[in-house]
Amino acid sequence: YADTAMYSAKHKGRNNFQCYDHELTLHVTERLSLGAALRYACANHELQLYYQPKVQLKDGRVVGVEALLRWWHPVLGMLTPDRFISIAEETGLIVEIGEWVLKTACQAAVDFNRDVAASFKVAVNLSCRQFLQNDLAATIEAILKTTGCRGEWLECEITESLMIEDNPQVANTLEALRALGITIAIDDFGTGYSALNYLSRFPIDVLKIDRLFINHIDTDPCKVGLVKVFIALGTNLEMQIVAEGVETVSESASLQKLGCGLAQGYLFGKPQPFDVLMTTLSL
Ligand code: C2E
Ligand code: MG
Ligand code: MG
Ligand code: MG
Repeated sequence: YADTAMYSAKHKGRNNFQCYDHELTLHVTERLSLGAALRYACANHELQLYYQPKVQLKDGRVVGVEALLRWWHPVLGMLTPDRFISIAEETGLIVEIGEWVLKTACQAAVDFNRDVAASFKVAVNLSCRQFLQNDLAATIEAILKTTGCRGEWLECEITESLMIEDNPQVANTLEALRALGITIAIDDFGTGYSALNYLSRFPIDVLKIDRLFINHIDTDPCKVGLVKVFIALGTNLEMQIVAEGVETVSESASLQKLGCGLAQGYLFGKPQPFDVLMTTLSL
């Protein structure tokens, strides 16, 4: 009985994923009406991917983008994922929406690699719910084939909550994605409650440090201490390090001094529609 929580989680069975829900506070009626409308969002072409640049700190070169989902609700206007992703997860719609995201992102990756730079990566966020499908890797393989996207151009971002699943399906799927040449990134690193041993048990290529630790890193010695450790940890495990949410030149300078290789944030570019970013990047 040393760890009752772990004991009960294990005994809930293999299809019982403990995905975190950060949005328990959302009003129930809003959730119900958004859930109903979300059912039609895919078919009605109300979904759009925005793309945020990921840059190399040493020279500012854009080496890739992260695809971030937007929903143009017919009445409410543009909604960001915090308003609807958890609803999509609960209703299972995330599987269909996630496939649309993957297909659209892979098409964009083909265009970026043709018109902007070779080996340009597009990162996609995957919900742990998407790993419930036993054929996620096969689905992605098919999407790569139909879009002409190479595995090397796609990065899958997952969160620590998926890693603590004691489910062989997670490891198998990640290995299968790796075998397709796809990069695996841990998103929001440092915010989960997980033990760190998953970092050596799973095939992870990229560690994205949550913006909680990046914000004010230029003036907060406590954050410097933590980020230093994260960078050392990731680097020793041969992972690439990405700092999320860099907003100022001073934060960027601090990160570069600490040996952080890559960064994203409003300083380098906000998420933008495909055409807008394409125009900027191909100039
Ligand atoms: P994330 O993957 O950690 O993405 C980073 C979030 O931080 C994005 O919010 C982005 O717009 C925002 N951000 C980027 N730079 C800055 C900055 O300098 N300052 C600040 N304050 N914020 C910055 P967004 O687009 O609202 O997405 C929120 C979360 O929704 C994402 O967090 C991701 O977990 C989830 N998400 C987005 N798209 C998808 C998707 O297609 N599928 C799934 N399953 N989840 C998604
Ligand atoms: Mg992400
Ligand atoms: Mg993140
Ligand atoms: Mg996040």
